[in-house]
Amino acid sequence: SGKFFVGGNWKCNGTKDSIAKLVSDLNSASLEADVDVVVSPPFVYIDQVKSSLTDRIEISGQNSWVGKGGAFTGEISVEQLKDIGCKWVILGHSERRHVIGEKDEFIGKKAAYALSEGLGVIACIGEKLEEREAGKTFDICFEQLKAFADAVPSWDKVVVAYEPVWAIGTGKVASPQQAQEVHVAVRDWLKKNVSEEVASKTRIIYGGSVNGGNCAELAKEEDIDGFLVGGASLKGPEFATIVNSAT
Ligand code: 13P
Repeated sequence: SGKFFVGGNWKCNGTKDSIAKLVSDLNSASLEADVDVVVSPPFVYIDQVKSSLTDRIEISGQNSWVGKGGAFTGEISVEQLKDIGCKWVILGHSERRHVIGEKDEFIGKKAAYALSEGLGVIACIGEKLEEREAGKTFDICFEQLKAFADAVPSWDKVVVAYEPVWAIGTGKVASPQQAQEVHVAVRDWLKKNVSEEVASKTRIIYGGSVNGGNCAELAKEEDIDGFLVGGASLKGPEFATIVNSAT
């Protein structure tokens, strides 16, 4: 449902030099036309990327402050992201939830604020290994989804990223069936709790150890509408393979 969407989350990686190389590889890659492509550099390199990367690829922040900027040391505001050319922001990433301690309600507020200012939101959800093993995958995903749903007035610019925590950076990719099962459940939740229209239009993308070798199988699944890629997005040619995996 919807146009295929592939995001590259560069996380806290890179230097001016390595990023110049990555941008140059992305600029020379051939990317299928019918795919939304977004990259998310560390904040300090966004300006460099914006001024050197092809306009074919949009730029996302990896986080944003919950409201208007001001006396919030170390934070980056939505207004600043827009000012520097970002169209998107990633919110609720598992590293921010579980390493840094952000809570559902706070993340929901961030999403509402970013949307109110016109940014698109890549809204991340996903269970930890012990939660999956305890049979709580759907409960956890629905709880995180509900926090977004309770806060956002519109889903027009929201992409949901299902990223099982056990698959992130581990090389243990979810099987196409495991991912598809959760994506269907998420879509069903949206249908019951938001609307049929939102359920059918919202892109639900998968993240967690996606690479050039496993993307095609995952992309075949009906409800996998794209990917959020970490490690493999730091290599231009491999990221291009993932972007082009829908066809
Ligand atoms: P990896 O692709 O490195 O597993 O990271 C996934 C991710 O967290 C994207 O946001």
